Amino acid sequence: MNMPLQAEGLSHWWQGLDAATADFIRRLPKTEHHLHIEGATPYHLLREAYPGRFPEVPEHWQVDYRFDSFQSFLEILAAHGFAWFDSPDRYHLAAREIFLNASRQNVRYMELSFDAFFSSSQGHCVTTIAEAILSAAPAGLTVKVFLGMTRDAFENGLEPVVRKALASDLVSGLDLHGIEPLPLREWTVDIWREADALGKVNKAHAGEFGPAQNVLEVIDRLGVKRIQHGVRATEDPDLVRRLIDEGIALDVCPISNWRLQVIDKPADHPIRQLIEAQVTCTVSTDDPFLFNNHLEEEYAFLANALRFNQSQLLQVARNGVQVALVPESVRSVWLAELDAFANA
Ligand SMILES: [Zn+2]
Repeated sequence: MNMPLQAEGLSHWWQGLDAATADFIRRLPKTEHHLHIEGATPYHLLREAYPGRFPEVPEHWQVDYRFDSFQSFLEILAAHGFAWFDSPDRYHLAAREIFLNASRQNVRYMELSFDAFFSSSQGHCVTTIAEAILSAAPAGLTVKVFLGMTRDAFENGLEPVVRKALASDLVSGLDLHGIEPLPLREWTVDIWREADALGKVNKAHAGEFGPAQNVLEVIDRLGVKRIQHGVRATEDPDLVRRLIDEGIALDVCPISNWRLQVIDKPADHPIRQLIEAQVTCTVSTDDPFLFNNHLEEEYAFLANALRFNQSQLLQVARNGVQVALVPESVRSVWLAELDAFANA
């Protein structure tokens, strides 16, 4: 099935953009680095599976809808995502939709995560889910799967699940999710360090709802070089300098930040300041079913709300290639293609 994840015509991030910039964004070869599969529920399939249970257009797809709390976001995520993801087949079907949607937007590389606790509590084997997702990737799209877990997840008997994931080549690394104000537990430090020693590439959500100090904490204690969000790093100039000096990348999701009220106004988004300081930032959709966004719209947001010019948009795409988990020979080809695109 070749359907868009979201209803068409709802986005206002394109409005006011000149045609040349819109065309540039659409044609630009892109990568995506921060996407939760449970937040990318294929809504039309969900409605078909449960006739009459869900409205044609969810309220949270409205143009100016903003979640009034992270809790309300989690409730909507659970009511939809957890209704859909009840078998490996459904992970595969969702992944296929996400990947086809990405391919239509000239996305060539994608990293996404699935929640360890939720999938294992349903009795699914962690590697079966990773395989279900990876096997949905079409030709021309490289996919990497991460195992996500919340800050309080390990207390729920997750250790064997995580160990199985760490032993598998199907899982590229770990991603710390969830409610940021919860303290970082000691098990997290141990397991992230173990994953690191096994050659996994690990991530952590920080600096979204919490302060710059949280970004520092996951860098120092978990050893991550990939921060999910991290936009509040701008509160600490010394941290910004460390991000640059140590090559730590931020996988930023501007529309998510706006919809979840991390920022007051689109024009306030710190990604401009971060990019101008030469911090490696990529852009992603985070939870496209919840935020009613596509990757192209994240670029439109940068161009529209933050006045990124084409060379700055290209820099964001280059950053994505720089952090992609691909052999150097592939990276060189992709960077050369971006250069050719810029010069065309
Ligand atoms: Zn996220």
